[in-house]
Amino acid sequence: MQYQSTRDSRLHVSASEAIVRGLAPQSGLFVPETFPAADLEGWRHLSYPELAQKVLAGYLTDYSADFLQEATEATYGAAFGGNAGRTVRVHDGLYALELWHGPTCAFKDYALQLMPKLLVEAKRNLGRQETTRILVATSGDTGKAALAGYANLDGIEISVFYPDAGTSEIQRLQMVTQEGKNVQVYAVEGNFDDAQTGVKRVFVDASVAEELEKRNIRLSSANSINWGRLAPQIVYYFYAYFRLVDQGAVAWGKPVDFCVPTGNFGDILAGYYAKQMGLPVGKLVCASNKNNVLTDFIRTGTYDARRTFYKTTSPSMDILISSNLERLLYHVSGSSEKVAAWMQELARTGKYTVDAETLSAIQQNFAAGFAGDEEGADEIRSRFEVDHYLCDTHTAVAFRVAENCRSGAPMVVLSTASPFKFPRDVLVALGVQVPDSDFAAMSVLTEKTGEGAPESLQVLNSLPVRFTQVIAPDQIRTAALR
Ligand SMILES: *Cc1c(COP(=O)(O)O)cnc(C)c1O
Repeated sequence: MQYQSTRDSRLHVSASEAIVRGLAPQSGLFVPETFPAADLEGWRHLSYPELAQKVLAGYLTDYSADFLQEATEATYGAAFGGNAGRTVRVHDGLYALELWHGPTCAFKDYALQLMPKLLVEAKRNLGRQETTRILVATSGDTGKAALAGYANLDGIEISVFYPDAGTSEIQRLQMVTQEGKNVQVYAVEGNFDDAQTGVKRVFVDASVAEELEKRNIRLSSANSINWGRLAPQIVYYFYAYFRLVDQGAVAWGKPVDFCVPTGNFGDILAGYYAKQMGLPVGKLVCASNKNNVLTDFIRTGTYDARRTFYKTTSPSMDILISSNLERLLYHVSGSSEKVAAWMQELARTGKYTVDAETLSAIQQNFAAGFAGDEEGADEIRSRFEVDHYLCDTHTAVAFRVAENCRSGAPMVVLSTASPFKFPRDVLVALGVQVPDSDFAAMSVLTEKTGEGAPESLQVLNSLPVRFTQVIAPDQIRTAALR
């Protein structure tokens, strides 16, 4: 299997090359040339790690079978407490695929626990000897998931930059208590944009690259446009389908719809790959919050990022430029020239419109809707009161959108974070008085619902704080060169 660039289909690289490089020239994204066919009958009864090995083997063809077996077992076995891909009934015809049973309690663990191992192995496959230094600007979730994934790996160092006053107490403690000899965590004065702009500046600063090269260090990022982050997410669509068949919720071969709380379009795009491989998927429903640029795009074919940016109670979906959409545009239009032109127009004018065939191909596979903070809060309360099912603010958006997009097929909502990661917003939604600290809020949430908080969150306020440095945005360069 070779990979092409969304902006230049003449380029062909191996999976290892795509993962080490991250981004193709001219900001293109690497995409697989073909979709490997699924062996549905053969995969149906596999454990999660076994299934992950099969799915990934079709894409990562220059990785050895032994490596994939070890890596998927080490990632999705004990670390997910036997709950990888857990799919539960919420009410008739409605299911939740709970993706938050990993070490940091958010779905990004599925990719960020495996991706670092894929990177180390890719360097080995390519005979590369340098140290990789990962820089991450984060508003919260990605930072911790990346730290947890890259900690103590050979040949890798990671530095995370988060906005000093821009994360929740839990998110901050998750980062500053991270263990590992190769990790650094910095608070940056200002908001997320200040941290992100500072990190981006370091990436394009030739003097930084030159200085690091003398020490045999190369910079890299952990963001969601790397193929190594997308591929692992394909697995759970298959796994959830098989569990619905086991539960008698769907007849073998009949379609299931999935509704996905969406930001950067990575998670939902993985569902499109699963469908192209042969999984019986009906509609993929793209759920947005008030930042509903994708809803408008999927309904009209016009992507217009020139709009107000809202901060919502589902912050991981607060995105106006949804990077992975570019991959879908490439697959459905089949033209890197078209994609390059649309992306240039987006960069120049803030909007673009796709042609009618491209829109129709998208609408055959995708539906879309959005829900605001209040509708999300209503949904948290209804799901709890009616179904005794507790969900977080991101998942709530998807539950609300899913209700309006039912086709008659069973609907699986991807549940992307533990409700205990956002205990205050969840308590507000349930109509309960909210205490001052996140930890007190977690206890109240347990009292109110009878659900236990994940162990990894409960222990946070008793762990030693390792990182206390606060830096100005213009000190990010020095930190990156340390
Ligand atoms: C990152 C994230 C999302 C959005 O996923 P994308 O792949 O960016 O679309 C949704 N929910 C939570 C909790 C997340 O952390």
